[in-house]
Amino acid sequence: MRVLIIGAGLAGPCLAHGLRRHGHDVQLFERDPAVDARAQGYRIHINDDGDAALRTWLPAEAYEQAVATSCIPGGVSMAGPDLRDVTGIELPPGVAGITVDRLTLRRIMLRDLMDSTRFGAGFSRYELPADGTVRVFLTDGSTAEGDLLIATDGANSGVRRQLLPDFHVTVQGSRLIYGRTPLTARARESTPRPALEGFLGVNGPDGRGLALAAQRFRRSPADFGLPAADDYVMWGLTVPSRVCGPRFFELGAADLLELAATTVADWDPSLSTLIRLGDAGYVVPASIQTSERPDSWPQVPVTLVGDAAHPMPPVGTSAGVAIHDAGLLASHLVSGAPLSDAVRSYETAMLDHGFAAVAAATRNHAGDF
Ligand SMILES: Cc1cc2nc3c(=O)[nH]c(=O)nc-3n(C[C@H](O)[C@H](O)[C@H](O)COP(=O)(O)OP(=O)(O)OC[C@H]3O[C@@H](n4cnc5c(N)ncnc54)[C@H](O)[C@@H]3O)c2cc1C
Repeated sequence: MRVLIIGAGLAGPCLAHGLRRHGHDVQLFERDPAVDARAQGYRIHINDDGDAALRTWLPAEAYEQAVATSCIPGGVSMAGPDLRDVTGIELPPGVAGITVDRLTLRRIMLRDLMDSTRFGAGFSRYELPADGTVRVFLTDGSTAEGDLLIATDGANSGVRRQLLPDFHVTVQGSRLIYGRTPLTARARESTPRPALEGFLGVNGPDGRGLALAAQRFRRSPADFGLPAADDYVMWGLTVPSRVCGPRFFELGAADLLELAATTVADWDPSLSTLIRLGDAGYVVPASIQTSERPDSWPQVPVTLVGDAAHPMPPVGTSAGVAIHDAGLLASHLVSGAPLSDAVRSYETAMLDHGFAAVAAATRNHAGDF
């Protein structure tokens, strides 16, 4: 079977490994010109479901490297803006998972897929010829034909826009500013201990919230022939709409860092210091989205996986759900069932699981991830 996958983020490469291992002809198309074209070295927590899918579908050596370069595990705590009363949180079952540097995991997954990955080839549109196949038009001017088109192109999926033009996404008024601060000696002094040793959520009473967590590599990616990466503190700040201003998405890195620092200026002073020490190359603005399960789903050789299928607020589950979807689709596609039956069975299970996760994330969203 010829499979075309759009998007080489987290779900796409995991799925590509699973399908290639079972003899399918896979081509992966990524809009970015290179794996590290944008600052993407964020700490990402992947829940148990996602971790299990990585373990099942990646080559054993790649999974071992993902674990070896993952973050030293730590606890989860919450505190108020003065950082005085820190409360440890007992994690519910299913969330222990694995915490990784996103770029390192992508490098590990893509290393063996370079011969079937085309960078700088964004999805433009697809056509459905009468013979039941699918033809994709890419932004580099090329086309590709396959038996199945799989979209793993993230929350703003272009494939979804064509497949499900009425798909409903709600964007909240609050915004997010994500950043990271290299763990220098000075930054270490400004990092609250629970964030150095795990994850700390700081919630203000007025819609402001800050999530902080150190990425401390168990082993350097350089030990596995990958570019070296230093430890850092990842932070994500929820900024209420009244603070963002209408030009939020046009702000440059320095202005975003300053907005983040001033948003928490009346909190414990270590927090604005830590933000001001942030790496301007890694600061990004983001919106908070949630989505509704569509009433109907077209029966065509095109399907969606991960954030493309079910954008949800950032509560630390969407990456795990995306990779779980990838594993679920791989298992249906290698089951020996006719292609259309396999895709329909996947979609039923994915929609149940994915939109249960959207509902839980929408309920739980409190500005942390
Ligand atoms: C800073 C930050 C921290 C996060 N932390 C967490 C966390 O701790 N836990 C968690 O569960 N989630 C977290 N998330 C969310 C998580 O990253 C996503 O849920 C997850 O990456 C979704 O995986 P995916 O494979 O569906 O899509 P993505 O990983 O978003 O990959 C989509 C890929 O498609 C490519 N693409 C997009 N459009 C096109 C196109 N037209 N043509 C070709 N390629 C295209 C993109 O360049 C990208 O490579 C975080 C997100 C951010 C931004």
